[in-house]
Amino acid sequence: MDTSVVDKQPTESETTSMSMRSRPTQSEAEAAVRTLIEWAGDNPDREGLRGTPERVVRAYREFFAGYDEDPGVLLAKTFEETSAYDEMIVLRDIRLESHCEHHIVPILGKAHVGYLPAGRVVGISKLARLVEVFAKRMQIQEALTSQIADTIQEVLNPHGVGVVIEAAHQCMTTRGIRKPGVTMVTSRMLGSFRNDPDTRREFLSIIGNPRSDSSGAR
Ligand SMILES: [Zn+2]
Repeated sequence: MDTSVVDKQPTESETTSMSMRSRPTQSEAEAAVRTLIEWAGDNPDREGLRGTPERVVRAYREFFAGYDEDPGVLLAKTFEETSAYDEMIVLRDIRLESHCEHHIVPILGKAHVGYLPAGRVVGISKLARLVEVFAKRMQIQEALTSQIADTIQEVLNPHGVGVVIEAAHQCMTTRGIRKPGVTMVTSRMLGSFRNDPDTRREFLSIIGNPRSDSSGAR
């Protein structure tokens, strides 16, 4: 993978300025879809395609709903102080549906999220929601993995965080080099998940040891 791509992810302030930029109207967005249909070689006025621009725009709202949510707020809202629990918390096999930012085609797979709490614990449904908020944006898998881990680290400040994502990219399976069945594994380990081999091993064994060849050191 070209790691320089990761560096081109927008910074926090760039993301903020993007969200402040005024969005095109729904009819402008529908006109753009019409153009793409014509460019592909079809007639947007034929019966089967007449409602397509509207449907595509509606689908985009769903696919990219993550831009309208603040992941930090999502986690911060429900944390509790629970000093009694100091074991690893892992949510594994979280269904992941995202879109690659290079082709806007699906990235499908699963995410595993674990952390070692230091007082603050968050409801497990919030972890799944956090994955969803970042997944419902245009992404590359490496950045998605890092954003999930970094947000947990920042908001909950645990002893450590581990995030592993296994996913297939339809831009690889249906176009370009056409490699069906290829799964990409990325990981991001922070704190004790990075520094303590026992913690890391426990996490990887709980999630079923995906064959990760990524360093996780990003
Ligand atoms: Zn792609």
